[in-house]
Order: sequence, then structure tokens, then C-alpha cells
Amino acid sequence: MNKIFLMIIFFSIAVNAQSSDDELVNPKDLIPDIVIDLRYSTADHVFRNLPSGDIALPKFYTCNESLMLNKLVKALKLAQDSLRNIRTYNSKNYPSGIGIKIWDGYRPRAVQYLLFDVYPNPVYIADPTSGSMHNRGGAVDLTLVDLATGDELEMPTLFDDFSSNSSHTNMNLSQEVINNRQLLKDVLTKVAGLKYYESEWWHYNLSDASSYPLMDFQMK
Ligand SMILES: [Zn+2]
Repeated sequence: MNKIFLMIIFFSIAVNAQSSDDELVNPKDLIPDIVIDLRYSTADHVFRNLPSGDIALPKFYTCNESLMLNKLVKALKLAQDSLRNIRTYNSKNYPSGIGIKIWDGYRPRAVQYLLFDVYPNPVYIADPTSGSMHNRGGAVDLTLVDLATGDELEMPTLFDDFSSNSSHTNMNLSQEVINNRQLLKDVLTKVAGLKYYESEWWHYNLSDASSYPLMDFQMK
């Protein structure tokens, strides 16, 4: 009897130690050196400068902590574990390796309505009636940083540059920038197994992101 009871306890601990794939988790818990710069929690984002302007995103993004599906975090961990080992790239030295900086992950569906209201272009802002993969916790906006300095690697555009300059097909760039974009794409697609989005070099998602439910709770 006691043996069976102990087995049940050990089984419970083993199960609880791992979050299931569909649980929203903080990427910092699994990847302590990942950099979080949740731009919509600050005044530093493109929607502040549009004509119908300030839509008070910080009301929804109340702190600089991202959430995303555990399955996506596990994929990003594979990417960061690989990037961290790089010491030279593009003739530049990275004494502590290269890392990931997160700009956005899970996004409440209410925010999707706000963004689409300000910028109703479904190439860059998914229609909220069908929802974004960000609303499902299955998408991430990110870039690369030098882990020694925190400096971002130079990329084709700033975050949320809604123009053809952000497309993966944009080759009107220096070779260094093309190589940086390619490093991000290679690691996230080949190591992490994520899908890229042709119109936005910073956006990646789980291949089955659309199979997870739309969510609309406010981050705290
Ligand atoms: Zn995105």
C-alpha cells in the first residue's frame, strides 16, 4: 500500500515539473538570459505616432514580462542554446555569444482590435475577428543581441516597420544586415523548427499556432 502511495506521489511530481505545451509561461523561467523588451509596455512603439495615435497599449501591457505557449518557449530555448555558442559572426566577436530579444509574445485579443482599428492592414496586423497567432500565444516578435553588451545586431528595419523594407525579399541592404537576418531565420527555422513570415523579418510562429485557442486576458 505504501509503495503504491509513493509511486503516485513521484508520478505527480514528475508530471508537475513540466508545463504542458499549451500552457502560457514566462520565457525567462526556462531561458534566464533571454532579453525581454516588451515594446508595447513602453512609449517606444510605432502606434504612438500614427494619426489616431495613442491607444494606451501600456494599459494592457502593464509590465515588461512576456508570456507565450510553453511549446514556443521550448523552441526558443533550442535557438538560444545554439546562438549562445557563437563567438564570431560577420567578422565580429561575441565573447558571451548571441542571444534573443523579445519584443512581443502573447497579445490579448482586445489589443488586436485596437491595433487593427489604428492600422487596418491585414498584411501587418491580423484581422481580430479571426485573431492573430499572437492572441493564441503561438507567435513571437524578436531580434538578436550581443549577450556581452546587450546591443542589438543590425537588422533591415526597426520593429513594426510596416513597409516592404521589412520583407525577407528585401535585398537592398548591406551584406552584414542580410547575414544577420539570415542567422535569425536559420536558427529559428532549422534549430527551433518555427515558421517565418515573409512580410516581417522579426515575426516567427509555431507551425500549429492556429490550433491553439484565442485568448483575451490582461497581462499583470
Ligand atoms: Zn508578430
